[in-house]
Amino acid sequence: MAIYDGFEPVIGLEVHAQLQTESKIFCSCKVEYGAEPNSRTCPVCLGLPGALPVMNKRAAEFAMKMILACGGTVHNRSVFARKNYFYPDLPKGYQISQFDRPIGEGGAIRYRLETGEEKTVRLIRIHLEEDAGKSMHPEDGGAYTRVDLNRCGAPLIEIVSHADIRSPEEAYGYLTKLKQIVQYLGVCSGDMEKGHLRCDANVSVRPEGQAKFGTRTELKNMNSFKGVERAIKYEIDRQIKLVKSGGQVVQETLLWNEKKLAAEPMRGKEESHDYRYFPEPDLVNLVISDDWVNETRKNLPELPEAKASRFVSQYGIREYDAQVLTDSRPLADYYEEMMRHTSDGIGAANWLQVELLGVLNKTGEDITATIVRPKMLADLVGKIASGEISGKIAKTVFAEMVESGKEPSVIIKEKGLVQISDDSAIIPIVEQVLASSPDNVSKYRSGKTNVFAFFVGQVMKATKGQANPEAVNRLLKERLDA
Ligand SMILES: [Zn+2]
Repeated sequence: MAIYDGFEPVIGLEVHAQLQTESKIFCSCKVEYGAEPNSRTCPVCLGLPGALPVMNKRAAEFAMKMILACGGTVHNRSVFARKNYFYPDLPKGYQISQFDRPIGEGGAIRYRLETGEEKTVRLIRIHLEEDAGKSMHPEDGGAYTRVDLNRCGAPLIEIVSHADIRSPEEAYGYLTKLKQIVQYLGVCSGDMEKGHLRCDANVSVRPEGQAKFGTRTELKNMNSFKGVERAIKYEIDRQIKLVKSGGQVVQETLLWNEKKLAAEPMRGKEESHDYRYFPEPDLVNLVISDDWVNETRKNLPELPEAKASRFVSQYGIREYDAQVLTDSRPLADYYEEMMRHTSDGIGAANWLQVELLGVLNKTGEDITATIVRPKMLADLVGKIASGEISGKIAKTVFAEMVESGKEPSVIIKEKGLVQISDDSAIIPIVEQVLASSPDNVSKYRSGKTNVFAFFVGQVMKATKGQANPEAVNRLLKERLDA
């Protein structure tokens, strides 16, 4: 339990995830990020009189995937409701959402903190709703705010957690896991910078040991995972300071200002009944059969935890490495593709994590775009395992692969880098090195065995690093210890 100066923070998150469907939730307009403003609209998503919404089946299926992946319950019958509020980027004057009968309830998200500690956050509900448009306020303080309605009617799920989170770090860990799950499921890009994942946080503090929750505030407008962590930390500190100085927390909505690193009041918190929810008269209930639920459950992709433990048992790699390799689906797919071309699971994991990811971290390139394809890297690993090249030469080959995108076997041939493993080729060199350093040989034999490294170095130099180090060590020892 994270205790702050005798206080315990209590945090619940509401996450909106934009579903990656082709079309919007109630019309056939395309969902397209970055399209020309107001070019992806129709009478339905503009809310023109007489236009009727029709539910997008794929959106329901995507919501179901998320509910099932989190172990929640899909309701066979859920109801759409109108949430009434006036906002410039919501021309209908109401948003179609779900209120007292959402598509899903319950379930949990489990994740691990950086310390390795496992945490569970229970989910209250997951419901479907449509997105609003986007107001574009002038940055230079100009006179007009413009509105882009392309996003109106984009499908969202809102994932509402219980207030099970106790620190900004936990909030970050939970969100990171949530993003990983939606990406694995292929239901949302998880891109917070593009607004495809949005997070509001309810934050309160209570004296250590007190069961009753303190008064909470709602934080909005965080645009990155780190921003969420910073905003929550800021708000916890503010509330504790306030309470300790004899003040009281007021229930309100705060907007996070990333430039000022401060949260500023927006408006008095509207209670949910202020929205005057009522059943949406233009849509029938959303009916989901048990067969459809079972079919969706059966077709869920393998999730990160299951993949990680399979990697451990199938490829013999360490738990930690399996966690790193399943961090994102493209990375896990890359490793799995490598394993189709080599049997050295540990070697493949090392070369992928240390060498390739090392390069990609520097260049900022995506793993799906690199010219070093999984089979090429697997071939390199195989050549080390078979003794064709040493680990040291492999690094030279790898550097060339990153530059030219050539196959390792081509590079080895072009540069004459094949490892010399044949004793009969190494023995004459070993004997020559020993013969040319009689002083060091006597030193070694009188007990100063640290000169051994000198002999190894000389042999490697004479073979341009191509001699098999294991053979060199063995052959030198045989002669020096004779
Ligand atoms: Zn439309």
